Amino acid sequence: MRILNIIFISIFVSIGLIINHAAAYDNASVFAPGMFTAKSIHSGKPTQTLINNVHIFDGKNEERIMNANVLIEGNTIKHVSQDPIVADGANIIDGGGRTLMPGMIDGHAHVMINADFGPVERDMDITDISYNAVIVAERFLMDGFTAVRDMGGPAFGLKRAIDSGKIVGPRLYPSGGFISQTSGHGDFRDRADPGFSIHDDGDLSNFERMGIGNVVDGVPEALKATRLNLRNGATQIKIMGGGGGSSRFDPIDTTQFSEDEICAIVEATKDWGTYVAAHTFTDRAVNRLLDCGVKTFEHGFFISEKTMKRIAKEGGYVVPQMWGISPDLAKNPLMPADKIPMVQALGKKFADFGRNLVKNKVKVVFASDYVGKFEDAERARRYELWWRTQTFDSNFEVLKQLTSVAGEMLAMSGPRNPYQEGKLGVIEEGAYADLLLVEGNPLKDITVIGGTDKWFDANPEWKPIDTIDLIMLNGAIYKNTL
Ligand SMILES: [Zn+2]
Repeated sequence: MRILNIIFISIFVSIGLIINHAAAYDNASVFAPGMFTAKSIHSGKPTQTLINNVHIFDGKNEERIMNANVLIEGNTIKHVSQDPIVADGANIIDGGGRTLMPGMIDGHAHVMINADFGPVERDMDITDISYNAVIVAERFLMDGFTAVRDMGGPAFGLKRAIDSGKIVGPRLYPSGGFISQTSGHGDFRDRADPGFSIHDDGDLSNFERMGIGNVVDGVPEALKATRLNLRNGATQIKIMGGGGGSSRFDPIDTTQFSEDEICAIVEATKDWGTYVAAHTFTDRAVNRLLDCGVKTFEHGFFISEKTMKRIAKEGGYVVPQMWGISPDLAKNPLMPADKIPMVQALGKKFADFGRNLVKNKVKVVFASDYVGKFEDAERARRYELWWRTQTFDSNFEVLKQLTSVAGEMLAMSGPRNPYQEGKLGVIEEGAYADLLLVEGNPLKDITVIGGTDKWFDANPEWKPIDTIDLIMLNGAIYKNTL
């Protein structure tokens, strides 16, 4: 359903956007190098920030902690209290009765697949998508997302640049190139392309050449691709376990990879202490993936309640981008007219997917997962925030998917988790200080964190979310309009 488009995003345009938007971050603090090890330069004493007079959504409980105060020390939350906190020398912020909530987490995004498929497949090289990714990363953070699990693409260098403070962006959990079988959801070769062999670089598609994906067949190739990603620093492995909408040669109902191949990938990943995520839609595929120990299921719209129960019982997660079943998808200008009835029928048929996941106690994580022009991905992300509240019937459920449940999922990377000092997605003592200060109450009104019912009809120009007044990542302030 992500349709080819041939509009080319010039890197010069991209650079212009960065310069234009820098002015939008009024009063943002200095983006200091080394932010992920932020410590005071004075005599070893960590810096403290005291945020007073806030109502806290802690990521887990529907009731906010009213009239509270939070002390941040270095990069973690030191103290949460409804009594006054005394902290001499702390930088003091008056929250003015706003909502303090954990930074949001996107459980499935593609920071490096940030232009339309046609150009990415045929006309772009790694520098094109890298320049775009700098903008993508910055806007994720400025939209209030402090962590992103990247589900396919060469995001390792981007992550290093963010972590070292060279550029601004969220914490990244990269999967590296997604792993697909021949004719699978990651096989983007066109009919005119030569056949691909992992042993012969001359046969690579542009997707594979840039490290967006790997096409492999048989256990040895599957293991090699898995281990290459792990060597590069993948925090989890992403495989294509079934058909999809954006790829040409794999009908959406197909099951992909044999049990031998999947189990080999899972074992090699477990040997590194982390887990496998799979793109999948059907019962047949999900059950095969569960048999091998795959932990997160991306999309999953067509699964039965029986399979949902099995996922819940085995501690798996479903990470669906709900816009995939939105009637508004038909408004995508790239949608061919003959596909619109099919898209609308699917949306109707699976309208209760979200409600059924909750009813069957499946852990669900937020996913924006739009592959294409990054401006369209940003609009899709804000639309997804609103659309989820309609499909899950609850702002609280969606907010948990964006915070505590997503944080739990990220922690499954175990020893491969790059951020192990504290929890993500919660406000509690010892958790990382990834925080948003929001004018209004997102438990009642999702628009205050950027949600909107406009999608393709929304203004394509990125603008800051005025009701997010303060963005803190790892104890450092990136936006402060107070
Ligand atoms: Zn995806």
